[in-house]
Amino acid sequence: MTNLSSDCTFCDLKGEILKQNQLAQAFLSNPRKVPGHFLVIPKRHIEQPWQLTNQELLSIFELIFFIEKKLVDKLGQGVDIRQNYRPFLPKSKLKQDHIHFHVYPRYNQDYLYQMAEKYETDLFTDLDLSEREEFKQLLADK
Ligand SMILES: [Zn+2]
Repeated sequence: MTNLSSDCTFCDLKGEILKQNQLAQAFLSNPRKVPGHFLVIPKRHIEQPWQLTNQELLSIFELIFFIEKKLVDKLGQGVDIRQNYRPFLPKSKLKQDHIHFHVYPRYNQDYLYQMAEKYETDLFTDLDLSEREEFKQLLADK
């Protein structure tokens, strides 16, 4: 495969890949948050989400939904899918530049809830209408 980065862990997975299709591959996150914490990546080294082609997106989401279906009722009652774009963080064991989608099983009041999300509902506040206009304008700008 072309477009690999020689200093990227995700470009050199070899035996770690558990499932793949034409343009994407899935493997277990290491370190991981919970058992069944998968990462799905494009085979091509891409760092910005908007650089993904439609074909890569299709391959990635085919794998995500395949894994999601496998996880539900086996490791959880639901699934979270998450993609973080945080170029402001330095590369580390917990932060890889190669774009990746997290897929992990969830159930009611699970470990992630207990450890990290217990107070998340406190973050929600009613949307201000002027704020909606502001973001409507943001999306309207070319
Ligand atoms: Zn890479």
